[in-house]
Amino acid sequence: MSQSITILGATGSIGQNTLDVVARHPDTYSLFAVTAHGNVSAMLDIVCRYQPQYAVMVDEHAASQLRAQLPMDTRTEVLGGASALSDVSACAEVDVIMAAIVGAAGLAPTLAAINCGKRVLLANKEALVVSGELFINAARESGAQILPVDSEHNAIFQCLPDSAQQQVGYMQLNNHGIDKLLLTGSGGPFRHTPIDELVNQTPQQACNHPNWSMGQKISVDSATMLNKGLEYIEARWLFNCRREQLDIVIHPQSVIHSMVQYVDGSVMAQMGEPDMRTPIAHVLGFPERICSGVKGLDFMTLGELSFMPVDFARYPCLKLAIDSCWHGQSATTTLNAANEVAVAAFLKGQIRFTDIAEVCDSALQNLVSAHVDSVDALMAIDAQARRAASRRVEQVVYA
Ligand code: NAD
Ligand code: MG
Repeated sequence: MSQSITILGATGSIGQNTLDVVARHPDTYSLFAVTAHGNVSAMLDIVCRYQPQYAVMVDEHAASQLRAQLPMDTRTEVLGGASALSDVSACAEVDVIMAAIVGAAGLAPTLAAINCGKRVLLANKEALVVSGELFINAARESGAQILPVDSEHNAIFQCLPDSAQQQVGYMQLNNHGIDKLLLTGSGGPFRHTPIDELVNQTPQQACNHPNWSMGQKISVDSATMLNKGLEYIEARWLFNCRREQLDIVIHPQSVIHSMVQYVDGSVMAQMGEPDMRTPIAHVLGFPERICSGVKGLDFMTLGELSFMPVDFARYPCLKLAIDSCWHGQSATTTLNAANEVAVAAFLKGQIRFTDIAEVCDSALQNLVSAHVDSVDALMAIDAQARRAASRRVEQVVYA
């Protein structure tokens, strides 16, 4: 029987890669809904090509424009507004959600799917960073299955024994003979840039990742390596790690996507081309394997694989993320919100590359640790952090 899928963030990099894989298996998957923020022409292309039942535009004006441009014979119904995101996630007809909205904006619709016990393919790492334990507990309660799309977490998931794969969010790594998880990261476009020249790097340079083609926000996060920091926090929740069970290794070639080290000294690694269609196909097909359109590695031309430790002087954002992870939920929610504000300001040319760490740090300095037991409490921390970060951005701009 075919599985009905909603793609949240369909016009983005992960969304488009998901459509590419889904289209290779028309008998297995049917497209229930696709969503986007405001890109009408990209959404029009998707609707004409894939004819989903629903197309959601968060921006109401964009929804009207899309409605006006749809060909007469289209069966797709257009919905507008942020609440429609949760409607097409929680709908009884949906089996699988691809959570590929960027940023904390993805939390509400992803949680809506989690609360209904859906199979959730999780690319939107910020949702987990922002809500951590709440998200994992909600999935445990509803019986929702979380499958990690982020290439590192997908790699680790693939290297785990079946029994641990059944317990995403609450496995005990030592019960499965696991010593530690090794997250790999390329180091981004500025790995060789002299540290005193980082201040002058432009948004275009920051978005020019050596190995991966991705959306703008995650590309800037890769340049600061806050992306690896968000992934560290994401791994902490998905795999229920303690501090000594999680390490980061720089691996510039992005061939090994992450590793699991067992107590007997064995290390399992997942390798492949840096192409997100591989982890996307893995989670779509799980536990079966399906074609993704990605070729296997050619070991005859691969060359050397190298590994080195992280230089925190080059990547201060990564240090902030690791410290926040073990400080607690209010810290990681604050860091994520401040970073979203800082990256947006950097992309608009308002602040310099090195100011991103400065803005994040200043929001964390303002942090009031609070017990967080609801989404509303999380959103209050998120809003407060955005205000603190915006104030710091203004100080930087007018300094
Ligand atoms: P992108 O910027 O290319 O696409 C983002 C999508 O989210 C778009 O469809 C956009 O319309 C939608 N969106 C943006 N703001 C929104 C809002 N406020 N409300 C609703 N929808 C909104 O981003 P991406 O690179 O595809 O990344 C998506 C997520 O996947 C991010 O969380 C990212 O960290 C994660 N991820 C991406 C990659 C990658 O290779 N691109 C790899 C691993 C993880
Ligand atoms: Mg990743």
